[in-house]
Amino acid sequence: MNIDEVVNLLQKELNEIEDKIKKLKTKETEVKNTIKTLRENLQITVQCDKCSGEGMYFHRSCAEDEGDFKVCPKCYGKKRIKVI
Ligand SMILES: [Zn+2]
Repeated sequence: MNIDEVVNLLQKELNEIEDKIKKLKTKETEVKNTIKTLRENLQITVQCDKCSGEGMYFHRSCAEDEGDFKVCPKCYGKKRIKVI
């Protein structure tokens, strides 16, 4: 085997390795997307106990019957909180 043959052989090997890496990266993206979807499907939520599922709560000021509605600090207005 002369030097040209060795170089050609090595280049062929390197091209094959690059192809394998490309395929693995594509597969990695697919697997990550699948895991993301599975995680989203697995999330269990319940009604927020801080605002009783209203998303807002009445923040009473010092004076009686006065105050204003604020976005719930626990569920951030989403009305539900994650259990998992
Ligand atoms: Zn809430």
